[in-house]
Amino acid sequence: MVAEEFEAAFHRPLSEVDPEVARLINGDLRRQQEQLVLIPSENYASPAVLAAFGSVLQNKYAEGYPGRRYYNGCEFMDAIESLAIERAKQLFGAEHANVQPHSGSQANVATFLALLEPGDRIVAMRLDHGGHLSHGLATNIAGRLYDVAFYGVDRETGRIDLDEVADLVRRHRPKLIIVGGSAYPRTIDFAPWREIADSVGAYLLADIAHIAGMVAAGIHPSPVPYADVVTMTTHKTLRGPRGAIILCRQELAERIDRAVFPGLQGGPFMNAIAARAVCFREAMQPEFKAYQRQIVANAKALAQALMERGLKLVSGGTDNHLMLVDLTDRKISGRLAADRLEEAGIIVNRNTIPYDPRSPFVTSGLRPGTPAVTTRGMRESEMVQIADWIVQAIQKKTGEEGRRRIREEVRRLCEKFPIYPELDYLR
Ligand SMILES: *Cc1c(COP(=O)(O)O)cnc(C)c1O
Repeated sequence: MVAEEFEAAFHRPLSEVDPEVARLINGDLRRQQEQLVLIPSENYASPAVLAAFGSVLQNKYAEGYPGRRYYNGCEFMDAIESLAIERAKQLFGAEHANVQPHSGSQANVATFLALLEPGDRIVAMRLDHGGHLSHGLATNIAGRLYDVAFYGVDRETGRIDLDEVADLVRRHRPKLIIVGGSAYPRTIDFAPWREIADSVGAYLLADIAHIAGMVAAGIHPSPVPYADVVTMTTHKTLRGPRGAIILCRQELAERIDRAVFPGLQGGPFMNAIAARAVCFREAMQPEFKAYQRQIVANAKALAQALMERGLKLVSGGTDNHLMLVDLTDRKISGRLAADRLEEAGIIVNRNTIPYDPRSPFVTSGLRPGTPAVTTRGMRESEMVQIADWIVQAIQKKTGEEGRRRIREEVRRLCEKFPIYPELDYLR
């Protein structure tokens, strides 16, 4: 083969190079457009974020940090990463930011690597009460390397009982306390956590993966003044690219940076870092604050409408972007409910509820959230409609026929709130 031929092949569009993959991507684009996405950890990143994420920056190796790289040709990499760092610090009022972690779990492991030795003690929230697997699940690296004791929520109130946490901390004397989770529908006030940590000289890690957007917008209390380290994903309520950042006080900066690289990762994904910089800029705009307020207003409206229609919510409602539906008094599992909802074009994940009698694979709960539908522009009146559909779709008597009918109505609603109308991977 001569050079011209492989050069020509190189420049063909995706739809020609790999029609199979192009079709599959376009299939999911249509699914994202035609279904109601109620998974609280998912969102639609803006076209600007997608453009940076899909850019040529993915070609560049840039191990190290701005001004201290192990590769040449990093002039623009340094400028981009510095911009992302400065914006993250400004957005959250933090002393130091590391914008390189590939994911939220990696950000947490890097924090452990920076602050702990194997065998050290951690106190964290139980996974089945709303924590996260990276906080010490037995099969996760955190559970393998550290000695983890768990707090949960109160059986009656569904809320974290700070006296129980303080007591556990007194008995366990951990080196690190983790606050924050994946399925906690209530506001977290971080100040008392600092006091509890200080009572035994422990570090405090706030993992705000789920609530980062609300914290950035100033409508949820910030952990930055209280926690030694704050980790967050950038792809959930913050609505940026997949991945994570770590914020910390200046005195921990070097340890955190060394733990991320070379401790845990090699070359940073510079395309993701550029997309993170774009996301932080978007998050500084007044529209973003309005968006976050609407997420919460929509969640409250959805929670209220679900309860009025007879569904039980853990803790009796929500303060943030998500709620936990408790199905234990119904004859249906979380798994079956979520599958029936998918038939109706509504995507919501099943979730354990605190003290769940069913296994984590089956569960007795659903975890609906409003970040994605709010990005589409839906408001309180649509939430009431969605609650109607949810209650109908999970009932056995609605049947396949009924769920097909709901799916069609869902598609019509989604058409009124278009998302990514300019995209087409088959072109
Ligand atoms: C989503 C989440 C993470 C980690 O996310 P990745 O899937 O590893 O990016 C970490 N902590 C909490 C609390 C989360 O909700």
